[in-house]
Amino acid sequence: MIVAEKKPIEEIIEEVKDCEKILVAGCNECVTVCEAGGKKEVGILASALRMYFMNQGRKVEVDEVTLERQCDHEYLEEIRDIIDKYDAVVSLACGVGVQFMAEKYKRMPVFPGVNTSFMGVAEERGVWSERCQGCGQCILARTGSICPVSRCAKRLLNGPCGGSSKGKCEISKDLDCAWQLIIDRLKELGRMEDFERLAPIKDWSTERAGGPRKIIREDLRE
Ligand code: SF4
Ligand code: SF4
Repeated sequence: MIVAEKKPIEEIIEEVKDCEKILVAGCNECVTVCEAGGKKEVGILASALRMYFMNQGRKVEVDEVTLERQCDHEYLEEIRDIIDKYDAVVSLACGVGVQFMAEKYKRMPVFPGVNTSFMGVAEERGVWSERCQGCGQCILARTGSICPVSRCAKRLLNGPCGGSSKGKCEISKDLDCAWQLIIDRLKELGRMEDFERLAPIKDWSTERAGGPRKIIREDLRE
């Protein structure tokens, strides 16, 4: 899932402080799971904004909506009939949802209410960690299904650097060395021959550094 964190309220107020009517829009998918932008967080943010404006002696309308997904035309259409009455939307979706809403409703300022952080997992309640950087050329088949692109601080593709020590990464004793994890797992799987297979030079053009990407599946197009 995409993991995000709530933005500080002061930052959001700075963007909407001159508005008279504000729509706070949540998303029912990833940001709900990571408790940054679902229905509950929409309610909390909307209440905080109302309180702020009330303390300022201003009458500002702050409404709430939570869409199934903000990265999907179909669900964004659900606010078409109401969106024009607002001066701005604060979207609690990830950066993808914020942009897609802004593309669809071109005259509406859409401000992000969360900081989108990474694609990752919920390790336990309140702990999320990164697992994939969407490099566009997955190499998990030869790394014991542990991603060195997102989990090795140096993105090394052919084994650990000299700084790996006692299973920890040299940049922080709190971080496991990704390559130690890979080696341990390959040993467990009895697949150490995968470790011997030299990774070819990676084509980073399929990664974010190669510019924005698009996937077109002709079989799914109408
Ligand atoms: S190798 Fe690339 S696509 Fe596969 S998990 Fe890592 S970053 Fe994601
Ligand atoms: S110590 Fe391990 S995880 Fe850290 S940079 Fe070196 S190989 Fe990568």
